[in-house]
Amino acid sequence: MATRLACRRFRAPLSRRRCPPQALAGPAAVRLSSSGGLGPARAACRGPLVRCGGFVGGRWVQAAAAFPVRDPASGAELSQVADCGVAEARAAVRTAYEAGSAWSALPAKERSTLLRKWYNLMIEHKDDLAKIITAENGKPLKEAHGEILYSASFLEWFAEEARRIYGDIISPPAKDRRMLVLKQPVGVAAIITPWNFPSAMITRKVGAALAAGCTVVVKPAEDTPLSALALAELADQAGIPAGVYNVVPCSRQQAAAVGEVFCTDPLVAKISFTGSTATGKILLRHAAGTVKRVSMELGGHAPFIVFDSANVDKAVAGALASKYRNSGQTCVCTNRFLVQKGIHDAFVNKFAQAIKKELHVGNGFDEGTTQGPLINEKAVEKVETHIHDAVSQGAAIVTGGKRHSYGKNFFEPTLLCNVTTGMLCTQEETFGPLAPVIKFDTEEEALAIANSANVGLAGYFYSQDPAQIWRVAERLEVGMVGVNEGILSAVESPFGGIKQSGLGREGSKYGIDEYLEIKYVCFGGL
Ligand code: NAP
Repeated sequence: MATRLACRRFRAPLSRRRCPPQALAGPAAVRLSSSGGLGPARAACRGPLVRCGGFVGGRWVQAAAAFPVRDPASGAELSQVADCGVAEARAAVRTAYEAGSAWSALPAKERSTLLRKWYNLMIEHKDDLAKIITAENGKPLKEAHGEILYSASFLEWFAEEARRIYGDIISPPAKDRRMLVLKQPVGVAAIITPWNFPSAMITRKVGAALAAGCTVVVKPAEDTPLSALALAELADQAGIPAGVYNVVPCSRQQAAAVGEVFCTDPLVAKISFTGSTATGKILLRHAAGTVKRVSMELGGHAPFIVFDSANVDKAVAGALASKYRNSGQTCVCTNRFLVQKGIHDAFVNKFAQAIKKELHVGNGFDEGTTQGPLINEKAVEKVETHIHDAVSQGAAIVTGGKRHSYGKNFFEPTLLCNVTTGMLCTQEETFGPLAPVIKFDTEEEALAIANSANVGLAGYFYSQDPAQIWRVAERLEVGMVGVNEGILSAVESPFGGIKQSGLGREGSKYGIDEYLEIKYVCFGGL
């Protein structure tokens, strides 16, 4: 009881006492399978994987204050979580640093086995983990399940990749020399993640880092720390050694200070960030002082081009998937539709019909919901601003266009036509359920509009002309291209962008390189 109260009030700064599951959440008897009158989001946050402390050196630690985690669907408080600050971040970095030599010295096969155990536990607990995502992020439970499988797949993939880190033997230029290349872990990786994929954005980095022999400190988003902490609980159960995976949750007020510790502490070797381009630039500036390795997965502004030769039904299906997943809150979501004039009207009509028929706004826990809430009020305001700006400049609302009566963070899936390139929604990421359609004449014109952005993460196009497919795939200025396909993420493929969408790649055979140094060794006098 004493421990529970201490955890509830967060009196003890960086206490080493264990913070039990459900410490803030009431009796252990409340089970995930039954909401017990609490509502499904709050019930999901009574489960054994729900933790309230930071996780440093294999222990649940407290901080001087706490911050609330809210259900974006109702605004209800789900939990209070330790608000870690500069002191806790520094302690976590030191802990990760101290754990680094033992972890990197483990044979790759042993690191692989531990990652695989972590993966198995994620699969075993996939239902509870999905409910935590829906509770704190709002996405439909079916999408949350999909995210957990996707998230776990990075632990599985990198468990396999851990054993396939190879160096090189180089032909020497002199008889008495032998030359080789070693691959070694970079050291402590500090990881900052967003709320839109609260689990997968962590494992995509952490899987690679741990496989390479690095240790990590993770700062999850203020809105969604519970998924990161649930992963810590499972890492602990899997036997990942203390200090290898550390989590310092914090409120938005502390984020800049914690980020600065990560970027300036000499014990940190690598910053890996997923989030907005604006925040990425701040972190890059801080990281320059100690010349840290960086990986940046930043914002997108994906074009989706429909050429006259496209199969319109397939293009509509791809458009629905790429635009409205997670209520339009993914970095690879289409942000601008460019539709050639010969197919324009058919596409817009069929897209509007599909939106009305197939998208259902509601609570993510309700069967049949495809569109949950946006993450917060600010996100809703941005969608509204983009629509008002477009309409004031001549765009027409085909469907949607306003907040949804379901609740204050809910917005109607919206389709606009008569959109032009001077409008805000075609110049910056909306990050919401808004599909603006620009009509174009020629391939050159479409490519010029698509490539006018200063970011280049994903791009999509629909065409049945093989020569055009090659031309456009090569000329689109993005890191990832979907050709007649609206969903392209997979653990096997390299995820990342060009221009101001970032630096480096995650997942795939390339992802592990972000956490490895190349060391050249020359043997002389042989
Ligand atoms: P964000 O505001 O940049 O936040 C991302 C993370 O950075 C959060 O943990 C946030 O903490 C933290 N943060 C914010 N300001 C910081 C600072 N000054 N120093 C250190 N950390 C700081 O991004 P967001 O709006 O949450 O996420 C959406 C953006 O992420 C979109 O632009 C989207 O395209 C991008 N994204 C990119 C990818 C990709 O793989 N390329 C994937 C997903 C999302 P708080 O939560 O406490 O603010």
